[in-house]
Amino acid sequence: MIARFLDFIYPPLCELCQTPLQHGRSICSSCADLLPRIKEPFCQNCGETFDGNLEQGFRCQNCLGLTHDFHFARASLKGLALPFHLVHSLKYRRRFFLARDLAEFLQETLEEDPRFRDLGNDALLIPVPLHWRRQQWRQGNQAFELARELSKASGNPLANALKRNRSTQTQTKLNRKQRLSNLRGAFHVKKAHLERLRGTNAILIDDVFTTGATAHECTRVLKREAKVSKVAILTLVRG
Ligand SMILES: [Zn+2]
Ligand SMILES: [Zn+2]
Repeated sequence: MIARFLDFIYPPLCELCQTPLQHGRSICSSCADLLPRIKEPFCQNCGETFDGNLEQGFRCQNCLGLTHDFHFARASLKGLALPFHLVHSLKYRRRFFLARDLAEFLQETLEEDPRFRDLGNDALLIPVPLHWRRQQWRQGNQAFELARELSKASGNPLANALKRNRSTQTQTKLNRKQRLSNLRGAFHVKKAHLERLRGTNAILIDDVFTTGATAHECTRVLKREAKVSKVAILTLVRG
């Protein structure tokens, strides 16, 4: 009742247009409609989007000659200003309440891409972990919040199965090769999850997919340490 009273005095505002909102939402429906979805054609390997008409099932220039351990990667939104603004609020401004509305975009992608259905309804949602020190600093992990909300919406079980052993230097200025060597040995499967993961399919959840180095390394660890069968990647934004 107190929460409702406070909503009455200070109604929550849309994160993008500041319109007063109801029912615990954080993004209004007109802003949600305007956010740029990734639709076909996109790279079947890494989810990179292209304008114009291209044949189905193509692979982008970046992926030619690359081997990814993951099955495929998909993102829900294009890497433009508004999606990045939302990721920034979620990640650096501790606005974790955004995760519920943002997970709806992930859910859209999960439903429309048949390759996710092929993994089964029991494919585990595994968030990319932060190092504990960074998580403490940010007071939460944006990937975990997204995975938890997506799990509520889709019914796929959540498994917070990975841990990050070392805090890696910031990746933004590194190319893919440098990122890969920077990440070597950074992730492990938590002991308590080893049995549960064996032979299952998994969907790795993160906020942004950029070069795919994090996705690649987490997949490698899930397969090597826990014998996970297939790992697909689902991120909110394609950077
Ligand atoms: Zn709005
Ligand atoms: Zn690609």
